[in-house]
Amino acid sequence: MIRFTAIAVFGILVILGYWFSDSARARNVAGIFDELVNGSPGIDQDAFEARALAAVNETRGERGLPHLKADTQIHDAVARYGTTHSRLSELSLEGLFGRLQNEFPGAQFLSATVLLDPRDEGLHQSLADWKDVADPQYDTLSTLAFRDGLRKGCVAVLARRLPPFDLETANRDGGRFFQRCPHCQKAHAVLLDRQSQTLILNCPDCRQPYDVLAADTEGKFRRAPDFFEGFHIPDQPKTGDDPEATLVEIWSAVLRHCEYEYDRTSTRKGEAWKLPSQTWNDAAGDCEDTAILLADALNAAGIEARVAIGWNIHIGQHAWCVARIDNRQWVLESTLQLKDGETPELRTVVNAAGEYQPEQLFDRERLYFRHDGKERAGCDNYWSEAKWKPLPGR
Ligand SMILES: [Zn+2]
Repeated sequence: MIRFTAIAVFGILVILGYWFSDSARARNVAGIFDELVNGSPGIDQDAFEARALAAVNETRGERGLPHLKADTQIHDAVARYGTTHSRLSELSLEGLFGRLQNEFPGAQFLSATVLLDPRDEGLHQSLADWKDVADPQYDTLSTLAFRDGLRKGCVAVLARRLPPFDLETANRDGGRFFQRCPHCQKAHAVLLDRQSQTLILNCPDCRQPYDVLAADTEGKFRRAPDFFEGFHIPDQPKTGDDPEATLVEIWSAVLRHCEYEYDRTSTRKGEAWKLPSQTWNDAAGDCEDTAILLADALNAAGIEARVAIGWNIHIGQHAWCVARIDNRQWVLESTLQLKDGETPELRTVVNAAGEYQPEQLFDRERLYFRHDGKERAGCDNYWSEAKWKPLPGR
């Protein structure tokens, strides 16, 4: 008897295996199962969607908008989501959004509705009248048709999928992209605002900044760390192996050589960030230009240095350089005016904390974001891992 059962079970498995080995047949079986759960037997989903697209594209054509296309991946995802509902007329649109945004992080433009009507033609008319189909920000339509008692219904999803953010493409073609926040991992849309010259990208979900971009003198956006070049101050006098003397020497060289560029900020070009070699060749720059030059030249001489962006209680928005040798850290102001023969005086970060309030830091490798929960506050340690969260800069 046991042997007979075993043979029978084996036999059934062989039959099932044979049946599902044909993928078209397996799909049919899955389709029958879907239809039982959905209460949508015999509906040709592709034909329904094609008629829905024709109806909405008539509306769009009248308004001079490009036609919507099908998106088979979103179509399939909506169908899969539908199988988790016994009554599609009561489907949770919020749940559907969550599912789609999770599966398609680029789908930053989404709108969905559930429509019901006794007739197919009525459904297509309601779709054509749905005001969102005339919104130019969408470029695809996906539908899931179903039966609900004597009525017919459909779930309709308008979407536009954005490509992942890529600085090179953004500089070349512009447009919108999606970006995943490195802090909270949620995806959101990004548009490079070409009117502004410095962009601190903030996550709309967790509100934390995650990137600093600035336009160079050719109008091309670069990440802040990419402004470092490894620039050596020309004809740098030898200061022996005292790193503190080298630091003061490089700082003095930048202060003596570069004039502070006053108000060119009314022109777009004036707000652009310069590369260290450009600042040196122009012998002029504003606070971030000279702070980057100074930090870059210190790095090139083997001294740890970062650029700080933030607030100065006397100046307002400001950028400065900070340097570290062993456990000592200094704020190096790069816009000081030196008198002849004068040498700048080193000021420790603790001493300068009442005046300088950093918000972001960067060096040639990374960006660092304030991580101590403070805003508009001084800082007594620009290298503290507890106070600064690093993000890859390149
Ligand atoms: Zn976030």
